[in-house]
Amino acid sequence: MVIVLDLGHGGQDPGAVGSGLQEKDVVLTLGRQVLFFLEDYQVKVIPTRTNDVYVSLDARANLANHHKADFFCSLHINSGGGSGFESYIHPDASQESQSIAATLHREVAKFYLERGFPDRGLKRANFAVLRKTTMPAVLLENLFIDNPQDAACLADAVFLRDLAFAITGGLARALGLKKRTDWDPGGEIKRLKERGLITGDHAPDAVVTWGELATVLNRLLDRFEN
Ligand SMILES: [Zn+2]
Repeated sequence: MVIVLDLGHGGQDPGAVGSGLQEKDVVLTLGRQVLFFLEDYQVKVIPTRTNDVYVSLDARANLANHHKADFFCSLHINSGGGSGFESYIHPDASQESQSIAATLHREVAKFYLERGFPDRGLKRANFAVLRKTTMPAVLLENLFIDNPQDAACLADAVFLRDLAFAITGGLARALGLKKRTDWDPGGEIKRLKERGLITGDHAPDAVVTWGELATVLNRLLDRFEN
């Protein structure tokens, strides 16, 4: 199973702007969290970007088509007056695409309804990334950046983390993803090192001091808070 996670906009394209926020930045924070949570599942995830760079709409679709992805999920923030959550599939979306999108939409909408935001529904639009991708594809419009109430949540790191968790859960439910079961302690240490949370090499059964534990936790919290 391969998912392409599309982080909308980036670089010279800020996307929607409002309330002191830029869509490209909010989507980057959200998308990084979804990538993090999806690591718990048996799925290969290819992001269209992981930092503030411009990627054309064609390049996004081509990446998914080239990798023969099973699913394409595009993350965006809405604007133009309104509040809440809506998602989109292409007008000619396949039965499979409609069914995956319906489950994903329902799961993510639950998160928003619990927080008092309206579910604006699963809609259809001829968006380029939906038209040009050859696999089931959905585009999520998460709140309105130019609505002060919505924007307050979009500026809140904890809200975005919880939303990312809900999107991940929705993807898992919609695509039938299974949790990883293969425990690889050496691999876990390697991943911590790659992410800069630890620096040296460590044996999986080495003893950890409080100083080391506190350092790792503080580095982790710094990322959540920034
Ligand atoms: Zn957008």
